[in-house]
Amino acid sequence: MSKAVVSSLYDSDVFRMACRQFDKAADAISLPEAVRDRTKYPRRCLAVSLPVKRRDGSVTVFEGYRVQHNLSTGPSKGGIRFHQDVTLGEVAALAMWMSWKTSLVGLPYGGAKGGVIVNPSELDENELEHLSRRYMQEMVNFVGPHVDVPAPDVGTNEKIMGWMMDTYSNHAGHVESAVVTGKPIALGGSQGRREATGAGVAYLTKRYLEDLGIPVDRATVAIQGFGNVGSETALALAAYGAKIIAISDYTGGIHNAKGIDLAKAIAYVRYQKTLHDFHEGEAITNEQLLELPCTVLAPCALERVITDQNAAKLKCRVLAEGANGPTTNAADKIIEARGDIELIPDVLCNSGGVIVSYFEWLQNLSNFYWSRDEVLQKLFAMLDKAKAAVDAQKGKFKFSRRLAALTLGIQRVADAKAARGLFP
Ligand code: GLU
Repeated sequence: MSKAVVSSLYDSDVFRMACRQFDKAADAISLPEAVRDRTKYPRRCLAVSLPVKRRDGSVTVFEGYRVQHNLSTGPSKGGIRFHQDVTLGEVAALAMWMSWKTSLVGLPYGGAKGGVIVNPSELDENELEHLSRRYMQEMVNFVGPHVDVPAPDVGTNEKIMGWMMDTYSNHAGHVESAVVTGKPIALGGSQGRREATGAGVAYLTKRYLEDLGIPVDRATVAIQGFGNVGSETALALAAYGAKIIAISDYTGGIHNAKGIDLAKAIAYVRYQKTLHDFHEGEAITNEQLLELPCTVLAPCALERVITDQNAAKLKCRVLAEGANGPTTNAADKIIEARGDIELIPDVLCNSGGVIVSYFEWLQNLSNFYWSRDEVLQKLFAMLDKAKAAVDAQKGKFKFSRRLAALTLGIQRVADAKAARGLFP
């Protein structure tokens, strides 16, 4: 039988990277041809124009996307990114990773992602609200509590999720909290959701340090990216006793071997918006941060920052992927060959965010709310279970930890697709 021609719609470095990861994993578990491409490619996408009236009265049209990769095991799930470099291909790759992530940790979801090409820091609050509402307005027939459930990602936050929930609810004619997660607590947001991704990254890092026999209070940590994930990871690791020796954002970073005062850094960013000119250590670049000697390196920003250019120069013992797709496939090979770095792959490492999103959705659907302790306890139990499954798969097949995680995630999606059969 001839192979179908694959559309070039998503073609980009990052989409090809996600596809190659899939191919490698599919080969490793001998995924049958009949289910391969069905499992690999995104199911559908929507591209929208978003006209926004600016403060000077002019109108700017932004472009936005939503890619639903897989809906075979439940509604699709994944964040919405507001960033000037968003592309459809990037959103598709991120949607694909959401599928493997939700499947790996056993959530009844598929994977999706959204994105808008915009630098949100260039919009005032009104413009941001209009853009967020317009995005949801365009998505009203494409998302829903049982169809596709968005959440925050890079450049979006609770407030934006609140506006989106309000927009959708106004259309529905009733409160529909379960349409997005990561909402303010006042609108049905979950206790613990804001810190969930970072809390999960820190928890898993601590668990892997324990496996290595390294006391967490002797660990030094460098964190690239000081947004929601990076800052919460830093706080949680510091609470476990680790020393945070470097942090950064897109303006650059700082290094302080004595440990960075996180409360000061967070207060500084709250008012200054970036870490630029934060003089609590020596100024370094993001590239330098990645190559610092440290126990734990946590890339918590964007994709493809660890490459074949710097992978050989990493000086960490644990690489905790708080971001999605921070390590290119070429870098992965180098890290594997080195054999001296424990890599906690993104689909496992940062899954705490979507796990607590699932808890939020459950609470919204049942109108029964949990305490923060309950949320965190359930989160850590799910992470422990996923970690154990990944490490068992790694040991059984002599896979890298990434391959172990991806094969588990992909296998479950493929099994569901095979079991459902093909609708004529
Ligand atoms: N954007 C987050 C992620 O990449 C969270 C997604 C969600 O909570 O649905 O996993």
